[in-house]
Amino acid sequence: MIRQPILSVLGHIDHGKTTLLDYIRGSTVTEREAGKVTQHIGATEIPNEKIYEMCGPMLPRKRLDIPGLLFIDTPGHRAFTSLRERGGAIADLAILVIDINEGVKSETKESIEILKKYRTPFIIAANKIDLIDGWRSSSKPFLRSYEEQSEYGRDGLDKKFYELIAQLYEVNVPAERYDKIKDFTKNFAVVPISAKSGEGISDLLMTLVGISQKFLKGKLEIKKVDGEGSILEVREEKSLGLTLNIVLYDGVLRKEDKIAIASISKEPIKTRVKALFLPSPMSEMRDKKTRFREVDEVKAACGVKIILQDKYDIIPGMPFKVYRKEETSLQDMSIQVNLILDKEGVVIRADTMGSIEAMFYELKQLQNYKVMKAEVGDVSRKDVVECTSNENPRYRTILAFNVKVLDEARKESKRSKIEIIGSNLLFDLINRYEEFVKLKEEEIERAKRGELTYPASLKVLQGYIFRLSKPAIVGTKITGGVITPGRVLINSDGEKVGKIACIQSTGKNLKETGLNEEVAISVDKGVVGKNIKEEEILYADINERSARELLNSDSLSFDENEALQKIVEIKRKKEPFWAM
Ligand code: GDP
Repeated sequence: MIRQPILSVLGHIDHGKTTLLDYIRGSTVTEREAGKVTQHIGATEIPNEKIYEMCGPMLPRKRLDIPGLLFIDTPGHRAFTSLRERGGAIADLAILVIDINEGVKSETKESIEILKKYRTPFIIAANKIDLIDGWRSSSKPFLRSYEEQSEYGRDGLDKKFYELIAQLYEVNVPAERYDKIKDFTKNFAVVPISAKSGEGISDLLMTLVGISQKFLKGKLEIKKVDGEGSILEVREEKSLGLTLNIVLYDGVLRKEDKIAIASISKEPIKTRVKALFLPSPMSEMRDKKTRFREVDEVKAACGVKIILQDKYDIIPGMPFKVYRKEETSLQDMSIQVNLILDKEGVVIRADTMGSIEAMFYELKQLQNYKVMKAEVGDVSRKDVVECTSNENPRYRTILAFNVKVLDEARKESKRSKIEIIGSNLLFDLINRYEEFVKLKEEEIERAKRGELTYPASLKVLQGYIFRLSKPAIVGTKITGGVITPGRVLINSDGEKVGKIACIQSTGKNLKETGLNEEVAISVDKGVVGKNIKEEEILYADINERSARELLNSDSLSFDENEALQKIVEIKRKKEPFWAM
């Protein structure tokens, strides 16, 4: 058996998602009353009959194998576009709504990214064509209406339309008007519509069923007996108490069925379905108490309301499955949500659990980052404090999606050097985090490669040999710069003498010593008489990068500069272009 494809509507705010859904819903109301359509919760079904009727001669009858289309009523439902079932988005197909007068906007780009990432096929509805100067809108199919326009109206539309095509091209969406596409696998179809007048909606439906018939059939086969679906919404209903609006995308769901719902912990929540509800027929809807009617079972694909036997914290967007074996785990459910927290990692704050799940998926599954804490709500001081336990600089970060950063948190983050990155767009947030990690890691890499090493020189004093070797200990006078333990000494032939292990003066260990000081130094690999000679000048070695930078700066003291010149001269005897 083949089920209806599940459709989701996405796009920038105010571009007309709700209006489009309303138009589609409105056109099915009469059928609902006549009992022709299965009624749904949170979704609208367009049966074949209606599609044939709306498309008229454009779509000959009996051509469709799919039983209709199922639109998710909540536009841009994040859970729907971001949650995946076995790697694929639950929505089989999507409509990206773009206001033709406004073009591609930030949320349009974000929607495109989501759809591409989850490989959800989509078509584009270029909406609000009724506002184009000179265009006379009606509820006709687009192509017919196009023929009937004045030249001025047609030119106006074409101009706007090809501007949109160019913008889409820039965001890697090669698109063309739906009727001009030869290969739907190479180009995205754009249907000009007016969600207000209904113009082009039949063209839109026809393109949707066409693509479904051609490319989705394999995916739409109902394979399982046991129901599988996704939680759309958790809702308190006056007459029913706590309910879940769900979408069933495979199999059958019955009263009394045992279901496992994915949760934020390692184990799924296991419970039973106490009751299933569908909307009452339109005629009974006026009475609030009978808005829902109880049913014993539903078949995929459909939107239904359920009550569970027990009360749990259920997260919208989570997948569920009817199970038989008690030991069913998330893995058996082939559910890939992985909201398991790590000991170290970024802190996530977001407006809804659905967004947290989406961020989790992005960060952990796709990018391999770790997440230490993930909660709904504004960024608090506590979040910042907890984040400071991270030693890895890439995790000293809080990602705030669509939430506020409280003043206390802001202050604390400045104090404890925790980065807070906030955005209202998921992909923007993730991109900025990646950017931050890259910068941070480059910074660390630079630091690792060494801060600048400064030149210094010292003279081995005559008659102050305290120990000949392993380590050699000799009296010296600093002739240039600053000497610290750990510096490597070279002689005037450029040979390595050894590392300064210790600097002492009057029996005390020194952390550093400067010009004209007389100190005893121990040199780990020094051997007096062999590589250390009395009266000889030794130099604290520097790397080439430091030399190059210091040669071009005037930050050195006179004696340091002398040491630098000498070191460069020594090095260039062996490597003529050293530090050039
Ligand atoms: P959403 O935020 O994407 O759901 O956008 P809405 O559906 O709420 O639409 C935003 C505004 O645009 C509303 O005032 C709608 O009436 C208007 N609108 C939507 N579609 C059309 C259209 O095709 N033509 C015109 N003229 N206005 C439209």
